[in-house]
Amino acid sequence: GEKKKAEAPKVLRVGTEPTFAPFEFQKDGSKEFDGFDMDLIRAIGKQLNMKVEILNMGFDALIPALNAGNIDVAAAGMSITPDRQKAVDMSDPYYVAGLVVVVNKDNTAVKGINELNNKGIAVQIGTTGAERAAKVPGAKVKNFNTNAEVFLELKNKGVEAVIIDKPVAEYFLATGGGKDYAKIVGDTMEAESYGLSLKKNSPLTKEINKALLDLKKNGEYDKIYAKWFGA
Ligand code: GLN
Repeated sequence: GEKKKAEAPKVLRVGTEPTFAPFEFQKDGSKEFDGFDMDLIRAIGKQLNMKVEILNMGFDALIPALNAGNIDVAAAGMSITPDRQKAVDMSDPYYVAGLVVVVNKDNTAVKGINELNNKGIAVQIGTTGAERAAKVPGAKVKNFNTNAEVFLELKNKGVEAVIIDKPVAEYFLATGGGKDYAKIVGDTMEAESYGLSLKKNSPLTKEINKALLDLKKNGEYDKIYAKWFGA
């Protein structure tokens, strides 16, 4: 009989912004994409029998890239918000986060968001941190493309504070240069959950949610979680 040719796996084009460790980052000098989101999307790709290709872009370019059809999924620690849900499909939540204020270690005046009125705040452009900063009365918000620039601005004392996702701030303080000069102050703000984003009404959204659920059931999600955040 005639053998059926094995079909080449379809490509899943994934967009990310890799200055958001431990969710997505590139080790110094490496082009490899590392992190929790990257492991998760690769596991989802396997589940869907698709070949995962990861593309590096600005955080604020992800939703336009989905809408233009240049990528199929954004995996970028993207918080599920009503505005985004209007613009794109968002998957079921896969990680619970929130925002925090980060200041210089020697800053004793700022104890949280309430002491930031009329002060300079650095954020990554297009993020929920940027939205939160914009609500602080009189704040001078400085937007940057990468979180590397955001933290450098704090280090150089170009701003009083940074508003960023809690797990990213914690990881930066535990592992990065941040532990030399920065600290978290105040409470966690804005309970947020991360979701994967797809073009509005993408046929893949249902499949991605199914894959997420399967990975939670078969223990793979827990393995990836433990790898990055401990058991
Ligand atoms: N979770 C935040 C947001 O969705 C920040 C994401 C990021 O910087 N990658 O806006």
